[in-house]
Amino acid sequence: MEEMNTEKEEQTGAKQSHILVFSFPVQGHINPMLEFSKRLASKGQRVTLVTTTKASKSLQVGDPITSFGCNLKVEFISDGTEQADQGSGASKDLFELLKSATTKSLAKLITNIKNSNDATEKYPLKFLVYDYIMPWALDVARQHGMDGAPFYPTSSGVAALYYQFLEGTLKLPLREGQPATLPSMPPLELNDLPTFLSDLDLYPLLLKLTAHIPNLREVKWIFHTTFDKLESEVLESMASHGLPVRAIGPTVPSMFLDKRLEDDKDYGLNLLKPDEENCMKWLDSKETGSVVYASFGSLSNLSKEEVEELASCLTNCSYYFLWVVRETEKEKLPEKFLDEITRKGLVVSWCKQLSVLAHKAVGCFVTHCGWNSTLEALSLGVPMVGLVAVPDQFDHPTIAKYVADVWKARVRVKVNEKVGFATRGEIAMCIRHVMDKEKGMEVRNASLVWKELAKEAMYEGGSSDKNIEEFVAALQLI
Ligand code: UDP
Repeated sequence: MEEMNTEKEEQTGAKQSHILVFSFPVQGHINPMLEFSKRLASKGQRVTLVTTTKASKSLQVGDPITSFGCNLKVEFISDGTEQADQGSGASKDLFELLKSATTKSLAKLITNIKNSNDATEKYPLKFLVYDYIMPWALDVARQHGMDGAPFYPTSSGVAALYYQFLEGTLKLPLREGQPATLPSMPPLELNDLPTFLSDLDLYPLLLKLTAHIPNLREVKWIFHTTFDKLESEVLESMASHGLPVRAIGPTVPSMFLDKRLEDDKDYGLNLLKPDEENCMKWLDSKETGSVVYASFGSLSNLSKEEVEELASCLTNCSYYFLWVVRETEKEKLPEKFLDEITRKGLVVSWCKQLSVLAHKAVGCFVTHCGWNSTLEALSLGVPMVGLVAVPDQFDHPTIAKYVADVWKARVRVKVNEKVGFATRGEIAMCIRHVMDKEKGMEVRNASLVWKELAKEAMYEGGSSDKNIEEFVAALQLI
């Protein structure tokens, strides 16, 4: 990557700047922010991905942090959880703790970098890209003479909903049967909204998380991990409100997309240990399109009933299945399930999801509709069955709505109103629909169209690539 940077510098005459990219310490935020960092590094910038000690504690040994080249480093700063873990009288409000601890530790990191030789001689520290849920980072940057921009690891549709709620255009609570009709969006029912907007108890947290909305009027860039053709209407609508939103995605490793960054074959920072060898060997033994892949991301916490319904559905359907059940979730599996599925299914506690989705044996993806999983499936052309778990939904219901009704790349599993979760029969029907040659044609074709458009956005001169180039060029003027 270093050679690539030097070459780039020679071609463009651009000088390197140093950019900090500050991510909340969970997999679904680190992955896209790390990918954005790699793109910036590949365009000749020096980048430090910063996250907190909470992530460093789970980091898997052997992750290729160092193979990103010397233009991309990873730093971990204190998030105060050390004191909280030791019960040393730290605030019980973890969010406040994170804010006060990272305000100090980020300031310290910036000062250290600014005082280093590199900063004064070759790579002036110029800019902070911060996770939108840690908006206080912008103040820290400004106190140190730098500018900053928020980064949204969610869909533009979800970001727009938060914005419209805080601006007062989205009036809540919604009533059952009276959908929200917002410009540039499909009508949204109560259960299509992110839980921050459908659950009154969560409003205060959302207000805290998005307290930087006034700052959105001051920043020069707002980065969204999407691409123009996927969310053109929402992006245009936000731009018409004067918001400098730039789509820079999909934030998927280059070798699964445009193949311009040869070293970028994997995200590279795993907080859980993937069982790659086992998965690949097992998938290699299966025929094209014969496997149902089911995974619910790094945080979803399915109820025991939901796990039992899915287990029964997968056992009884006529397809092979690969199911990611995190260690902490395994106790919810039915007794003897793991002993009984030996030939038909494989259950792992974590996998390299992109390699799985890219495998020809995989015919569909049963997903919780986390934003990264969705972008990965769209980028690889894998049709989805959206099974949004009942608890802990976050932004998933809105993404699920878009994938089914707007992007047409998925069939949505309906929750049985009587019992409050999706039943085995309904899940099986949706899986059969997508796996069926005839019935599944529409979702499969739509997925393949998105795959091409996703690549196009990241190719040289593609919409997202251009947005990243423009940002890098603007940094030279700071
Ligand atoms: N992931 C993975 N292995 C797995 C399951 C998930 O590497 O077994 C990755 C997946 O590729 C995605 C991220 O974890 O990049 C999950 O992010 P997402 O936004 O989909 O869900 P979240 O974990 O934030 O709910």
